Amino acid sequence: MYLDFLAGNQSYNCTPWGNPTRNVFGWQKPCYLLVDEGYAPSFQALMDETPWHKYGNSKNPKCANCMAHCGFEATAAEDSISNPLKALWAGVMGPRTKGPMAPEPVPEWINPTTEVGKVKARPTIRIEVAD
Ligand code: SF4
Repeated sequence: MYLDFLAGNQSYNCTPWGNPTRNVFGWQKPCYLLVDEGYAPSFQALMDETPWHKYGNSKNPKCANCMAHCGFEATAAEDSISNPLKALWAGVMGPRTKGPMAPEPVPEWINPTTEVGKVKARPTIRIEVAD
């Protein structure tokens, strides 16, 4: 399902607690891609003190256009468990590479009445394999 998401066929939100990172500095908030969010001294502190609701591709400009495995594989795994027939179909048939793409999540930080916070949307084109 994660490959299907990367191919543009799933509209997923990030699950930032899905793949926690620990290194010599401690437990990194919220994922290893955002290096300036700080560290927690323990896993319990990471889970309790991280403002998880502030992260994700529709929640935070720092996360805009992110499709990284550390946030989205967990979402894909949850979707696979919740929708096993859809996951089976995607696994057997492989990611669809033609046709319309899934809609993107709408960024919550954009004020539609102003230009403030507008980000460039992902292009709605598919990259196809040449023969
Ligand atoms: S959207 Fe990307 S950068 Fe942001 S928390 Fe999720 S995985 Fe990390």
